[in-house]
Amino acid sequence: MKKAIMLSLAVLFGFAVLMGVAPVDVQAKTTFVTIGTGGITGVYYPTGGAIAKMVNAKRDEYGIRATVESTGGSVFNINAIMVGDLEFGVAQSDRQFQAVKGLAEWEDRGPQKDLRAVFSIHAENVDLIAAADANINTIQDLKGKRVNIGNVGSGYRQNAIDALEANGLNYEKDFNAESLKAAEAPGMIQDGRMDAGFYTVGHPSGYYKEATAGTRKVKFIEIPNVDKILKKYPYYAKSVTLIKDYPGAENTEDIPTFGVKATFVTSAKVPDEVVYAITKEVFDNFDTFKTLHPAYEGLTKEGMLEGLSAPIHPGAMKYYKEAGLMK
Ligand code: GLU
Repeated sequence: MKKAIMLSLAVLFGFAVLMGVAPVDVQAKTTFVTIGTGGITGVYYPTGGAIAKMVNAKRDEYGIRATVESTGGSVFNINAIMVGDLEFGVAQSDRQFQAVKGLAEWEDRGPQKDLRAVFSIHAENVDLIAAADANINTIQDLKGKRVNIGNVGSGYRQNAIDALEANGLNYEKDFNAESLKAAEAPGMIQDGRMDAGFYTVGHPSGYYKEATAGTRKVKFIEIPNVDKILKKYPYYAKSVTLIKDYPGAENTEDIPTFGVKATFVTSAKVPDEVVYAITKEVFDNFDTFKTLHPAYEGLTKEGMLEGLSAPIHPGAMKYYKEAGLMK
């Protein structure tokens, strides 16, 4: 009798353990991932949203729940992925290159060996805008003015420094450089606290719309010596900012400039099946994805495999092979 009681108690205990374990098991089936983006008036933020939307629609199939975080931009995203605070992020192709090779912000820490590429997305242009009443007609006129070169952690700060350097300007000596986040700069130009600012972003963007649609007139200032910049740095390409995207700007002609690509990056530590699922959802639904932001207009599947300098994550590679996009 005693034995029987003991036995049933043991069975009950076993059940309790099982029941206690069961809900945990269900939860473990959902993998939570966070995508680092940029300021909310940029294109990274809606890009993270577009990717998350596609993956979350298949939550039952993949068990992935993606959320998007607004961040300081490329350099912040890469560093946060490397320490495991983010699983994915959007980063400029030049920043991906530098992180992999241990250049620029990564000179002290060395090559970021665990950084992995997933795909590239839209083109981003390096542009400079100035308030029309600030007497800035060329890049040289920035001297003595208040100019935003970008927050530490952004991708565009170094692009601004490269553009200035190629034109013999030094942000520490020649003007009052501000290190503002992109989201703050258009408002500061509009209310007269800033004269000019650089930003690297896909077009059209909320940033330039906000900057050029206010009561204070704003114009794009051409960055000269692009050839010199291209010769010095392998990751830049020529590009043109189309004035049709910003009817409020004072310019009447398109502005020749240089640019990079936005890329989607992750860590070698993120499981293959998670990266595979995200890659598959974006590529299998490519036509829908393309409609999610006007900056994706020129996207092609092949183009999305260009501009990647980190090794491609094996989960993404599995999809590219299956889809015949890579051998
Ligand atoms: N390219 C910018 C950066 O990394 C961000 C642009 C965006 O948010 O769309 O600083």
